[in-house]
Amino acid sequence: MSADPDFPLPDVTWPPAQPFWAAAAQRELRLPRCDSCMTLNAAGETACRRCDGSTFTWERLSGDGTLYSWTYVRRAFLPQFAGEVPFLTGLVGVVEDPAVRLATRLVECEPGDLRIDLPVEVVFTALPFPGGAAPVLAPYFRPRSA
Ligand SMILES: [Zn+2]
Repeated sequence: MSADPDFPLPDVTWPPAQPFWAAAAQRELRLPRCDSCMTLNAAGETACRRCDGSTFTWERLSGDGTLYSWTYVRRAFLPQFAGEVPFLTGLVGVVEDPAVRLATRLVECEPGDLRIDLPVEVVFTALPFPGGAAPVLAPYFRPRSA
């Protein structure tokens, strides 16, 4: 376990995911598309999941997705989350390729509102941890209204 009190914050400077966090800071959802086979990949990958290619173009996505799975967290497993419980966390597949899923928070909803394949949309939210000079915006998702 890290001794860093800011432990839950992602490292927004880690090169394989830096474009993801830079886009989120601009309220844009971007993921890497392989330059060789055009497959969309998750942020943080250093090789394409289909062809093992290593060059990508970071594509701006619609921000729409579908709910793949979720859980309702009632107990904080890390002390930094003690003020956050209860909350909903889940896996959201992006509409551009539902096989690419983001681990995220689900907001503006209750557990009873959720179902598999529920249409959701991105909403950028500052992570609730003290950090560096600027807050870190993360892509959370809420049920899509229409
Ligand atoms: Zn590829």
